[in-house]
Amino acid sequence: MRLMLDFFRAYPGHTVFMLVALLLSGIAEGIGLSTLLPLINVALGQDVSQAVTGVATSGAQRDFEQKVLDVLDALHIAPTLGNMLAILVVGVLIKSIFLLLAQRQVGYTAAQVVTDMRLAMLRAVLRSRWEYFLHQPVGKLTNALATEAQRSSTAFVNGATAITFFIQALVYGAVAFALSWRASLVAIGAGALVIGLSHFLVRITRKAGSRQTHLLGALMANLTDTLQSVKPLKAMARDHLADQALSGDTRRLNRALRKQVLSAAVLDSAHELMFTLFICLGIWVALERFSMALPTVMVLVVALGRAFSFFGKVQKQYQKLAQGESAYWSMKSAIAEASANEETLSEGVTPTLEQGLRFSDVSFGYDGHSVFRSLDLEIEAGCLTTLVGPSGSGKTTIIDLAIGLLRPDSGSIAIDGVPLQEIDLRAWRGMIGYVPQDTTLLHDSILHNITLGDPELDEAQAESALRAAGAWEFVERLPQGMATVVGERGGKLSGGQRQRIVIARALINRPRLLILDEATSALDAESEEAVRNTMESLKGKLTILAISHNRAMVQAADRVYQMSAGGALGLDAEARSGLAK
Ligand code: ADP
Ligand code: MG
Repeated sequence: MRLMLDFFRAYPGHTVFMLVALLLSGIAEGIGLSTLLPLINVALGQDVSQAVTGVATSGAQRDFEQKVLDVLDALHIAPTLGNMLAILVVGVLIKSIFLLLAQRQVGYTAAQVVTDMRLAMLRAVLRSRWEYFLHQPVGKLTNALATEAQRSSTAFVNGATAITFFIQALVYGAVAFALSWRASLVAIGAGALVIGLSHFLVRITRKAGSRQTHLLGALMANLTDTLQSVKPLKAMARDHLADQALSGDTRRLNRALRKQVLSAAVLDSAHELMFTLFICLGIWVALERFSMALPTVMVLVVALGRAFSFFGKVQKQYQKLAQGESAYWSMKSAIAEASANEETLSEGVTPTLEQGLRFSDVSFGYDGHSVFRSLDLEIEAGCLTTLVGPSGSGKTTIIDLAIGLLRPDSGSIAIDGVPLQEIDLRAWRGMIGYVPQDTTLLHDSILHNITLGDPELDEAQAESALRAAGAWEFVERLPQGMATVVGERGGKLSGGQRQRIVIARALINRPRLLILDEATSALDAESEEAVRNTMESLKGKLTILAISHNRAMVQAADRVYQMSAGGALGLDAEARSGLAK
């Protein structure tokens, strides 16, 4: 029930509306129901006013019926069969209207819950620190957005439905209580016993639900990972290995789901059996032992029977809630964790890039594993600086530090003399055109892949960016040109074509600093030449930092840094020509 309190705190307005509508619907139902006893007496042909003095009716019943008749009298309604049936129908009608209102509110709130949770999760994850994000499996995130949000909202609906049934159970219980408090007390005892005996089924479901949450997360993380590397798996006939790993989790998930279905079914049958037993026993005791009047017993059976059935339904809904609850807490804690790892972006000085970017005495390591120590590096404004070095020497790490995705363990990184930590990072990143090492595209048109949906960019700008990236020729030849959809992760294009499109994406925003992380590695001589020409023409207008082993990029560079394990060395022109051989 902690889950419902959480929701109520988050949506107080919705909650009050829902609860008031439910209460009113309960009251309407109670009013309709209270005409049942006089109604049956009328139907059985007993004079209502005589029936109240009948021998077999006890004091409480007489009181109750008399009160109902008094109220009818005060309202100038004759206690005829027609009138009382009409009250019953109107009661049910009003109840249905309020119930509908309440349920509509529940539906709206549920939709709101999923939307809010999805947005909160997305925002928190997108704003989190890069180092935090790196450790998050993408599949887990997809799973949270898809299944966990949905299960949370279903759990909320289950909780709200449980409350609805609870109020209805109270109404029937109250009518039964007014008729015979002794019989009702016994019935409440019996009901509590049934609920208590069945509670272990709720516990089983809760555990299975937790397991489902856990397994789904793991499975989706695994699945996404595997699906992204299907090609090598298939090429080397290792797909059965992935199959084995995934089917293990899938089978465990199956077991958890089976447990949930089974315990729900057992709860259903157990309720029905036990409640029927108690009601039959009650009828027998009332008629045989206490010689109660048949109309009274009939009304009691209806009221208590319905109260029982509603209490049973409350427990069933609670069981469903218990099944989905863990998804809510899992998502909630993921959101909280991501929010706690939010990076502060837009506080500080608006950057300029007039002189350059300087690393002084910078040391950095991932989780305590040092990548480099005391690194000094200067990226002069308006120049092309090229970084070369063996893989794993920390070139990409230098770029991540320059972008502010990572923070140095010690030393300082400064832009025109202003330390990076004092700079408005959002503004700084807005000045950067970035081409990453692994180029995957969005499953969309080439145009969209270049503009990323920015409404301020048009086709003409995209075309000139494509030209500058040496990509226009091949795009032009495609049957649908820039409207061509590139397939999942750009799979319909070659590696070199993808790279040039990503270079165009980096250029279209007219960046002040262009960063290319091995962005020309998959290019043929011709497109490499085109990119080099672009770099030559851009030099002076903007600052370029390129990681490349490409002869052209090394030759075009104003300065080349050779990375070695544990530091960086500046190379002069001689060394450069040696490297470029
Ligand atoms: P390069 O780009 O020069 O090939 P990187 O900068 O990507 O090298 O990596 C430098 C070193 O840091 C490598 O040894 C790599 O294993 C390690 N490394 C890179 N990224 C991470 C990460 N997210 N977590 C832990 N270690 C990492
Ligand atoms: Mg790299």
